[in-house]
This record gives sequence, structure tokens and C-alpha cells, in this order.
Amino acid sequence: MRGGRRYRLLRGIVSLLVLRYLAEGEECGYGLRRRISGVLGEALPPGYIYVILKSLRGRGLLDAREGSRNGRRVVYYRITDSGMDFLLRHRGAVEAGRRAIEELTRFLEGRGGESARGDRGRRQTYWRRGARCAVPAGSPGRCAICGRPAAVRVPYANASFCEEHYPQWLERRIRRVADRYGMFDGVRRVAVAVSGGKDSVSLLHALAGLRGDYGFEIVGIHLDLGIGEYSRASAEAARRNFEMLGVEGRIVDLRARYGFSVPEAVRAVRRPACSTCGVVKRYALEEAAEDAGADALATGHNLDDAAQFVMMGYQSGDLEGLARLRPVIPAGRHYGVRSVKPLFLIYERDLAEYARIRGLPVAGAECPLRDRTSQGFIRRKLLEIEEGMPGFMLRLVQEFADGVQPALAERYLREEDVGTCRICGRPTSKGREICSFCAIRARALGTGVAPGATG
Ligand SMILES: [Zn+2]
Ligand SMILES: [Zn+2]
Repeated sequence: MRGGRRYRLLRGIVSLLVLRYLAEGEECGYGLRRRISGVLGEALPPGYIYVILKSLRGRGLLDAREGSRNGRRVVYYRITDSGMDFLLRHRGAVEAGRRAIEELTRFLEGRGGESARGDRGRRQTYWRRGARCAVPAGSPGRCAICGRPAAVRVPYANASFCEEHYPQWLERRIRRVADRYGMFDGVRRVAVAVSGGKDSVSLLHALAGLRGDYGFEIVGIHLDLGIGEYSRASAEAARRNFEMLGVEGRIVDLRARYGFSVPEAVRAVRRPACSTCGVVKRYALEEAAEDAGADALATGHNLDDAAQFVMMGYQSGDLEGLARLRPVIPAGRHYGVRSVKPLFLIYERDLAEYARIRGLPVAGAECPLRDRTSQGFIRRKLLEIEEGMPGFMLRLVQEFADGVQPALAERYLREEDVGTCRICGRPTSKGREICSFCAIRARALGTGVAPGATG
């Protein structure tokens, strides 16, 4: 898109942002440009901010004084009383604008794959220091926010960022996803599930970075699954991250709490290790989040995970499983904790870059019990499609979450179909007396349950 047209669209918003920053105190044009570029995620064209400042000043919404900094003459701007009135009067318009922009974003983000198609060899234009510089698509090029050499390229967003701005960009993106699905509305205390891997560690740091915005507190929860050296390294990584951020961290030892470890459960149940482990983790995390007094439990499932689940669900026709696949599971009569997946529209690759650039302590080993099945094949194929069609996975999952899942939920996620486990009182799927967790636990402990009741 031509720069001029783009900035014509943003003009009203940038004017309000100028007033918003001046409402905090006086500021020079350079400082305003830097702060607003940071919010927009890209550098404003040089001179643009001065055109706006001049117009606002002409309307009496701000005034200016000359000062000096480091021996240079600098003009500082201040908001006037009528500027303040003007800003406050726009509350309704900003709300309406936010809704309109969300609607447009939904449409345009879904089209990411299309616009980026045939991108190879095309040259992209960035504004930088008074000149346009052409950056070949595919190379990291220059940071879209500050124009310095970029460290990371984000193909589906068709943008690159330096080491300083990449983490900011990703955190803002996580926040946008969380807000769009109302993940943290009314939440005071978030339990973050931290396995010690890059996804969950990135989630912990990103949410810690957003704590001030949301006004919630964080408690980290790590489950010790009892898988030998792998679990010891994972717990160590989790602990180091809790300490680094100074957040409350809880390590729940599965064996101490429930009497069995994941390897014991997997041996007893004789089903794919990952599905058994998944049931156990889900249950233990929800209980730990409740114990910790949290009102939301955040887990680090990323976009690649979600895309893989969607594809596998389509392939096997598991409509009930697909209906349960959603970014937010509200608190209900069985659990008092809302379950959220703030990373479900964030690529795994982007999370790996975030952890790398921020130098976060991450446990790198793969789980030794991991199933070597068709899942890995589907995942690799999805990445291949993504390479040829940047944005494919994002579109697949977003369209699923916004269109397909709600339609399936109406038919397959009915409250009256949910039973109550007669052992623990947690939910069971239709027609089952005992929940999957209690069934696994009974097998692992060798206590047995009534025939036909297992999950
Ligand atoms: Zn930068
Ligand atoms: Zn149960």
C-alpha cells in the first residue's frame, strides 16, 4: 500500500494519540513520533507528526514553547484545556472505531495468505529517515518500527523487527488475541501453566509484561510428571523463570499429590502416551489453578498445535473433539476457573524467536515418551504449506475458532450432556460415570473401577 493513503486513514487516530500522550505532560515532536510509532508497530513517515501538531495547534488544542536539550533548540508541546475536552469527548468514537477495526482486522488477518502469495522477489517499501528504502522480501531487512537492521522476519505479517522491537510486537499481538476473545475480562489472578518449554516460558514472560495493562497478578504452575531427567530439567527451567520474574511459582509433584507418575499411568493404560498424559495434565492443572485461587488458567498451546488438532479432527471426523477445541473455556459448574489459550494464534516459530531473543531459560529436551505417530507428519506438512502460503495456518485456525467451532458447539457441547464423575465430582463426557482422569488413576494405582465405566 502507498504510504500516503495508509497515513491518511490513520490521521484522526494519530491526532488523538498525540493528545493522549500530551495529557501526561509536555513532549517534543521527536518523542511523540517515537511513542506513536511504537504503538503502531511501524515508523511514521518523517514530517507527518509535525503536520498533525501544526493542525492541532491551529485549532487551539495544544500550545508550544521553545526549550533546549543538549544544546539544541527543541519545541515542547502541551495540551490545552480545550484539547483535553476534545480528547475526552472522543470516548464514544474511539469505542466505535475499535469495533470497526476489529471487524476489519478479522477479515484482513484471515486474508494474510492471499496477500502474501507470490511474494518472492517482490520488493517492499518502508519509510525510514526521510527516504524510502527497498527491502527484498525474504531477508530480515530493517525493523518496521525503528529502521535499524532487523533480527527477525515474520513472513505472514510481511514485516521484520530488530531485537528490541520484536518482543514488543509479539506481546502486543498476544494482547490483541487475548482481548478479541475476552480472555482476561474481569480476571484478577492468572495461573500460568509452565512446563519449562519455550511456549509456556514465553507465555509466562509475555503475560508478566502485560500485568500492568491488565491489572492481574500471576501465579506460575509447574507439574512434575515424574519422567526422570526430562522432568528434573523441566522443573529447573520453570523455577528459574519464576525467580527471574519474581512471580509466585508452585511446583506440583504428580506422584505426591495423586499417587502416580505419568510413566506409571502410561504403562498401566496402554493407550498413546500423549493422550494419557494430556488428560492427566489438564486435570492436575485445573485443580492446581483452583488451589492457587486463580480465576483463569492460561496454557501455552500455540498456533501450530491448534492447526494440527484441527486437521486431525477433520481427518478423523471427531466432531465432539472439534467442538471442544476453543480458545476460551468459561468457568462452569464443575470448574471455577476459566481456561484460556492466549497463544493459539501465535506461530511456534515466533515463540521460539521470542525466547531466543530475550534469552529465556528454556528446557530444550523432547519428552522421551512422545508418540512417534502421524501427528508429526501432519505437522511437517502444515509447515510446508505455510512456507508456500504464509498465513495459511493462521487462517485455518482463526476461521475454525470464529466460524466452525461455534457451529459445532451448538450441536455437540450441550450442558445437559455433561455428567458428573462419581469419584471426584468433575465433569465426564456423555454416558460416563467416571471421568477420564479417575479411570487412568484407578488403572495406575491398580485399584480398578467398575467394568464399562472407564473413559
Ligand atoms: Zn526496531
Ligand atoms: Zn473423576
